[in-house]
Amino acid sequence: MMEKFQGIGMTSRRTRNRMIARLEDQGITNQDVLEVMRNTPRHIFVDEALASRSYEDTPLPIGYNQTISQPYIVARMTELLLEKGDVSKVLEIGTGCGYQTAILAQLVEQVYSIERIGALQKKAKNYLSSLNLSNIHYQHSDGNFGWQEYAPFDGILVSAAAETIPKPLLEQLDDKGIMLIPEGRQREVQSLQKVTRRQDHYQSESLESVVFVPFLSGVE
Ligand code: SAH
Repeated sequence: MMEKFQGIGMTSRRTRNRMIARLEDQGITNQDVLEVMRNTPRHIFVDEALASRSYEDTPLPIGYNQTISQPYIVARMTELLLEKGDVSKVLEIGTGCGYQTAILAQLVEQVYSIERIGALQKKAKNYLSSLNLSNIHYQHSDGNFGWQEYAPFDGILVSAAAETIPKPLLEQLDDKGIMLIPEGRQREVQSLQKVTRRQDHYQSESLESVVFVPFLSGVE
């Protein structure tokens, strides 16, 4: 892992600065999010063969038919989640390669991250351990059920597109909590939904068109 860090060295720092400039052009304004993304190596989360492309604004394969979300989407969802202000406990559904997890863990107190593909989560844990982040809790399970033990959450971030929002996720959102979830079918236009809870009322706002891998059921 250390070799991987050193191999790209200063080049990746410059490349990251370019990525941040592009995110600003795309409308990302939260300075904390931009700083954390500037300082977090993204190339360590993808296979070495793809490392040189890891700062481009595109999703890339991470194995098991899944993709790492493009930098813009990671920045946008994180920024929206933090708009609420005081965010201490966040539930993430879809650890994937762990990059979004790494960004969240540097901006909120505790991250609870669920992934249905065990092998993928194991890889993510390895990548994340090299960054010395100690506030991440992992569960290999089906995100349809959320993580009751640690509910309620100030924020829930789902990184796969669901046809309907799973009820347990709505129930595990704290009062005034925010959930970001892409909604829609695969290969159709999906929209990023921002759901805000006010006691037992849920207000849903459709924000922008997005493309995500599908939210699936069961574990593997
Ligand atoms: N933020 C991740 C996104 C990975 S793609 C990254 O940038 O790497 C979406 C992830 O959601 C995949 O790893 C997929 O396996 C996972 N996923 C899909 N449905 C899920 C479910 N019901 N429960 C948990 N994880 C799920």
